[in-house]
Amino acid sequence: MTLAQKEELKKKISEDLDSLEREVIELEEKTKPIVPDCCIGSDERFEMMSEQEVFERILYEAKIRITKLKYSINRIDREEYGICMECEEDIPYQRLLILPESSYCTKCASDLQKRATK
Ligand SMILES: [Zn+2]
Repeated sequence: MTLAQKEELKKKISEDLDSLEREVIELEEKTKPIVPDCCIGSDERFEMMSEQEVFERILYEAKIRITKLKYSINRIDREEYGICMECEEDIPYQRLLILPESSYCTKCASDLQKRATK
């Protein structure tokens, strides 16, 4: 990986972190406890709850991704960044641009996925 590519990745990671952190603030607003019974009917409440569950799921995933991205930005200047933890080959730069937090190359990631779902 060239220095310019690393800089681009750093930029990409901070941009992703920025938008994720904004998303988390919005989602936390949406996942706040539902208003008391006196204000809404039970059907409405049910609808709001299933919507909230979806938001909670997205919130949870956004937080995990923030942790991973922060970890990547700390590692990016080290030699092991961008190298597959499984086969020790370089992770394709195009892949890192989309998923800067990846620790595996495309092939190993899908092999691991297959193994995990078996
Ligand atoms: Zn690999």
